Amino acid sequence: MLRATAIGPKPVPLALFGLTLSRIQKTYHRDKASVNSKVNDQPKQTNGVVTRFAPSPTGFLHIGGARTAMFNWLFARHHGGKALLRIEDTDKARSTQEAIDAIIEGLDWLGLDWDDETVFQSERAERHAEVAHELLASGNAYKCFATAEELTAMREQQRAEKKPMRYDGRWRDRDPSEAPEGAPFVIRLKTETTGKVTIADMVQGDVSVQNGEIDDFILLRSDGSPTYMLAVVVDDHDMGVTHLIRGDDHLNNAFRQLALIKAMGWAEPVYAHIPLIHGNDGAKLSKRHGALGVDAYRDMGILPDAMFNYLLRLGWGHGDDEIISRAQAIEWFALEGVGKSPSRFDTKKLQNLNGHYMRDAEDADLVRLATPWIEQDLAQALTPADKELLGQAMPVLKSRAKNLIELAESSLFLFKKRPLGLDERAENLLDADARTLLKSIHLGLTDLEDWTLEATEEVIKAIAESAELGLGKLAQPMRAALTGSTSSPGIFDVLILLGKEESLGRLADQMEKT
Ligand code: GLU
Repeated sequence: MLRATAIGPKPVPLALFGLTLSRIQKTYHRDKASVNSKVNDQPKQTNGVVTRFAPSPTGFLHIGGARTAMFNWLFARHHGGKALLRIEDTDKARSTQEAIDAIIEGLDWLGLDWDDETVFQSERAERHAEVAHELLASGNAYKCFATAEELTAMREQQRAEKKPMRYDGRWRDRDPSEAPEGAPFVIRLKTETTGKVTIADMVQGDVSVQNGEIDDFILLRSDGSPTYMLAVVVDDHDMGVTHLIRGDDHLNNAFRQLALIKAMGWAEPVYAHIPLIHGNDGAKLSKRHGALGVDAYRDMGILPDAMFNYLLRLGWGHGDDEIISRAQAIEWFALEGVGKSPSRFDTKKLQNLNGHYMRDAEDADLVRLATPWIEQDLAQALTPADKELLGQAMPVLKSRAKNLIELAESSLFLFKKRPLGLDERAENLLDADARTLLKSIHLGLTDLEDWTLEATEEVIKAIAESAELGLGKLAQPMRAALTGSTSSPGIFDVLILLGKEESLGRLADQMEKT
């Protein structure tokens, strides 16, 4: 539905233009020296590097977009250049403020910051039109008065004749005075008709297209609004973008954009078209593969650093390194490390990596990140004392949790109020025998002065021995009484974290029930 109401042409799908791309494979990957010499020849490519992330705000921050954003950010940070953010909101029917907010929030969450002011493409329409008129004045563009009916007939004929469907240049050499008075017109770029154009793509290698395949595409619509193709090129130029790192679904557009850049006599940027992300079954990523937006992973309790590391490794490599910190990523990032084939998104791998980041994270960071989840579960705010207790518990909690949700859940026992509600398993576990056992445990612990891991363990072991039971037989009812559930950190850790008074109180609450 939304598509049908979209204003004007979108970035035109590949099939419609039907460019035949011929590639010389991998010249850059195999031969790093040639890349370096290229870079050294052109100082603007080392320092003075300017990249940009240019999302269209039509939905959340897709994981593919997030990775593109990261690569742009890393490349700029690596070279000490600038990373810019441009919101491509020219398609008013599909762009929403919610989507803009979601994208900015997602980028923030990933820890990607941007230089200069964010550029909103829709605010630059006048400048885009100015360039179209400049091209018209220099003879590099022309007015086309062809009507919609005429163009439909042209395409139908091309289809019938099995010819490529593209604008045939019918107004290229005609004088505008031949058009009816006041007739609407579009402005088209006068493209080269012979020879070929080659893009030395940093990821794809050399990719060439015959100029004859690039039609005289529209720059300015009849209502005076710029096309996407014009807007992108003008903005990239005006923002001083030196390196265009983006999804390889834009490779086709690059040839048209380059024609426009050449017509203006502007500097050609370096292109790096990165392969898309596929699902773990190898098919193009879609909803059935699970969550597509980074916000969904945030809501699954994934740590931003883990997501950053996972997305980085997805399609980029540095030897066999799996765990790569942000600082290392900045130090090591180079386009030569970007793989040429689509990478596969594997939620399990992400979760495992997240577990690693959880174990390695600073306790204070985890307290901060887990607090909103805990507060939501408890339906109340944590007090400073609660947060201190959470910090003390963190070393034992974080070693057992794969994500922030598990971490939050496993911490709830610390904040529950007596008498604790028990979950079903805990309730079932506390039969009459177990409750009797709790009485001896309570008794044994009551006199203990030295409330330490070692001392509490000694007491419980002694009780287990005299009752001729394994330690586990005591630990389970204790766990049920102390935490209200059957899974928790080690039982002695639980005793220490809760403290003597609270522990004895919780044991007493359950042993007295019959
Ligand atoms: N706005 C485009 C997109 O979201 C990106 C354009 C570009 O990177 O050149 O796919």
